Amino acid sequence: MTAPGHAGVAHGVRAWDTHGEQAQPAQKTSGTSITPGRAYGFFTDTTLCIGCKACEVACKQWNQLPSDGYELSGHSYDNTRQLGASTWRHVTFIEQFDEDRFAERDFDVFASLPARVEPWGAFTAGEQWAEPGRRWLLMSDVCKHCVNAPCLEACPTGSIIRTEFDSVYVQQDVCNGCGYCVPACPFGVVEVAKGGDGKAHKCTLCYDRLRGGMEPACANACPTDSIQFGPVDELVERAKLRTDELRGRGIPAYLYGTDGVLEDGADTTRLNGLNCFFLLIDRPEVYNLPPVPHRASSATGRGLVTSGLAALGLVAATLWAFAGDR
Ligand code: SF4
Ligand code: SF4
Repeated sequence: MTAPGHAGVAHGVRAWDTHGEQAQPAQKTSGTSITPGRAYGFFTDTTLCIGCKACEVACKQWNQLPSDGYELSGHSYDNTRQLGASTWRHVTFIEQFDEDRFAERDFDVFASLPARVEPWGAFTAGEQWAEPGRRWLLMSDVCKHCVNAPCLEACPTGSIIRTEFDSVYVQQDVCNGCGYCVPACPFGVVEVAKGGDGKAHKCTLCYDRLRGGMEPACANACPTDSIQFGPVDELVERAKLRTDELRGRGIPAYLYGTDGVLEDGADTTRLNGLNCFFLLIDRPEVYNLPPVPHRASSATGRGLVTSGLAALGLVAATLWAFAGDR
């Protein structure tokens, strides 16, 4: 793998003076100002994604990440395949088509539109994607910047830190490439660039852009506002309204990564929330997201109790053996 570009802390770029006279660029592009000390993230509304991959391109361009090549993966139209050391945004294409998807279908689309839309209740013509068995699901995936980040907890060198924007950041000059963070991440986000610089890489939430008062490049590039950037508390409120609106129209929308409505036992509360969360309309596994993401550290207490009991058993067995010899 080629060494990724370095989107590290932009030395010399000062945090935006929020009391200055000039408006931050982020206020124009996302309607929000960026203030250190507040938690920022992404609300990704997957129902708005059109799979254009502008977010992937913008991420690679801003962060100077190498291309993934031009080989066809054979996996649908998705040729970047997955998140990795040089792919910090990845648009997942999920095909959900029944075998009989063309049966009884009138190919005069415009003539047949009202008849085809009607059976799904209140869906509009623009919401045909909501019909299971005849749809694409699209989701732009990224580091979730977990509130309790397992990668950060696993890092033995202190390379992974939480920034003043509550994002999770890998300091390249401190990372020793041990790779402990890789299995710790329940989402398969972070990767060590083997064959490259040998260090761990992932999305920085465009830390250098935030320092410069700009929203992250992917959100700025998204033409449909599928990726929305802002303070997490405001994004959650917005996301709940959107979820209610969709559910009111019969679409089984729910939020993944907040304490909002979760379907069928999916539970992300062990990570205490995700600063980058998603609106989904199918089970998390369908989008390659774990229904119940775990933190390795949450099993530490159980492990200590088990080890303690094992040690006690060993002592008891030893004493019993000595007692039997007498
Ligand atoms: S998604 Fe993975 S890499 Fe990102 S903060 Fe959470 S644990 Fe770390
Ligand atoms: S830029 Fe927006 S619409 Fe295009 S693929 Fe990314 S999330 Fe989807």
